[in-house]
Amino acid sequence: MLGTGTSSGVPMIACPCAVCASADPKDKRFRSSILVESGATTLVVDTTPDFRSQMLRADVRKLDAVLFTHPHKDHIAGLDDIRAYNYFLQKPMDIYANEMTQESIVREFPYAFADLKYPGIPEIRLNRIDKDPFVVGDIPVQPIQVWHLNMPVLGFRFGKFTYITDANRIDPEELEKIRGSEVLIVNALRHEKHVSHYSLQEAVDLVQELGIPRAYFTHISHQLGLHADVNATLPPGIELAYDGLVIHS
Ligand SMILES: [Zn+2]
Ligand SMILES: [Zn+2]
Ligand SMILES: [Zn+2]
Repeated sequence: MLGTGTSSGVPMIACPCAVCASADPKDKRFRSSILVESGATTLVVDTTPDFRSQMLRADVRKLDAVLFTHPHKDHIAGLDDIRAYNYFLQKPMDIYANEMTQESIVREFPYAFADLKYPGIPEIRLNRIDKDPFVVGDIPVQPIQVWHLNMPVLGFRFGKFTYITDANRIDPEELEKIRGSEVLIVNALRHEKHVSHYSLQEAVDLVQELGIPRAYFTHISHQLGLHADVNATLPPGIELAYDGLVIHS
């Protein structure tokens, strides 16, 4: 888990609350992203505003691809920093995103797609995805389309491991794609209901409805409370994720 925080991160700038003031490292949350590694292939899901710090902290020397969930700023803002991988790996970065997200990336990073490119800008190779499975290196990927209020967002299933951020509704046929996962990462913003994210209880209900044996919650707001306090209240098999958590699947 490269980051487990909501769009503002935790601590939130200028916030005096007990969570933002906490000394527990598990209450320090970069914006939400994961690193997925097989023996041969390394990819990240999303490039957050904390992407550079996340790559340095996890000491990621080789990165083969970026998969994007949706174009909200907390999921794409760090894209410019793939330049380091362009430089050291001497190749463009493969980006996998749906049409909506690709349009945003081209609009928000226009210099990377200009006809005359300034030296040193990010080099990007766009790969269009939708709901169909695809393969990155030796990692098979099954996209799962979920709803973030009215925005279609992609979750991703890698074998028995499923990652879903920024959602509060999933259609029945997409739910079926998650079923059978051994591990589910899913967003749980806070206790109160929210228009575009699952609340803590809604996330627990989803995990239990699907019968997933092991689940971790991400995209967490400072409003959820202290990691240790909230984690202690969760049913068996369900935990809050935290930055730096490593899951073997
Ligand atoms: Zn988000
Ligand atoms: Zn706070
Ligand atoms: Zn979002």
